[in-house]
Amino acid sequence: MSSSLFHRAVIGTMPYVPRPLIWRFSRRYIAGTHLQDACKTVEQVNAAGCTGTIDVLGEDSTSEEQVVAAVDLYLQTIREIHSASLDCGVSVKLSEMGLRFSVARCREAMLVLLAAAREHGLFVRIDMEDSSVTSPTLEIYRDFRTQFDNVGIVIQSCLRRSEQDVAELLASGPTDVRLCKGIYVEPEEIAFCDADEIRDSFSELLEQLFAGGARRVGIATHDPILVTRAEDLIGTMGVEKDRYEFQMLLGVAGTLRRKLVAKGHPLRVYVPFGELWYNYSIRRLRENPHIVGHIIKNLFTHH
Ligand SMILES: Cc1cc2nc3c(=O)[nH]c(=O)nc-3n(C[C@H](O)[C@H](O)[C@H](O)COP(=O)(O)OP(=O)(O)OC[C@H]3O[C@@H](n4cnc5c(N)ncnc54)[C@H](O)[C@@H]3O)c2cc1C
Repeated sequence: MSSSLFHRAVIGTMPYVPRPLIWRFSRRYIAGTHLQDACKTVEQVNAAGCTGTIDVLGEDSTSEEQVVAAVDLYLQTIREIHSASLDCGVSVKLSEMGLRFSVARCREAMLVLLAAAREHGLFVRIDMEDSSVTSPTLEIYRDFRTQFDNVGIVIQSCLRRSEQDVAELLASGPTDVRLCKGIYVEPEEIAFCDADEIRDSFSELLEQLFAGGARRVGIATHDPILVTRAEDLIGTMGVEKDRYEFQMLLGVAGTLRRKLVAKGHPLRVYVPFGELWYNYSIRRLRENPHIVGHIIKNLFTHH
């Protein structure tokens, strides 16, 4: 069996891996289960010369109670970031705010969060989820950016539609984008599936965003090839430091992160916390090139 087939076969067994084992392997990607854990991590991130963005873990809310709880925890997070004087914003998934069961409820929840964040001088990034919600997510961003200047969106370079989406965003108002490859598995009709195509799309979108006057671009990748291409582009286009930042996930590519900071690039670290860590962890573990061996080894040595 080829190593990538083997990798995929092991990834397929993840739902059967005991939760405590998943927790142990995903611990490096998550600040902890409490807000205090996230704030402590951001303090360290700030001390290392980076800014932060806190994600209250959770997605696909199916009830009013879940939305109320999520909004409440985000409001606590916003207040805590402010009172601890952390250099940090928040990242939010619209499905956590009820997008999948009521667009109106989701908008209401976002209005509350954006107003609280603005009052405390904080930036809110709307994370991008799978392609079933790309259009409503962009629509909500477009509406809110006319009322709030502390909100940004995410564009995924794996999606074929992204060039058009970026063109429309740039043509219709101030645009603050985090650019990433995209984590969700999407059908070939709508997404590039080849790694080089996804990379090329990323580089083209980055140039399109800089050239089109995006207010700020978050370059969210740990891929050394893309990081080098981005550095080259920033140099040749003379992009000022207030118009871009690199962004990386907690627990990933620490060495590359430190190198970029040492060169003087702005860098933000994504810091997730919360009880609802399972789905996020599975997505991170799937992307970890070294995880297969570790999981196999632990399954056989601890059970
Ligand atoms: C700040 C931030 C925010 C993001 N927000 C979103 C979002 O809103 N929506 C969305 O769809 N996606 C989001 N992503 C995820 C993104 O789409 C990619 O899935 C993820 O970043 C992996 O792609 P990569 O560009 O780092 O390249 P890859 O080729 O996947 O990784 C490059 C190298 O990074 C290292 N690496 C990557 N992942 C791991 C890992 N889990 N463990 C250990 N090493 C690893 C490896 O050395 C790997 O070879 C976000 C990513 C970042 C950094």
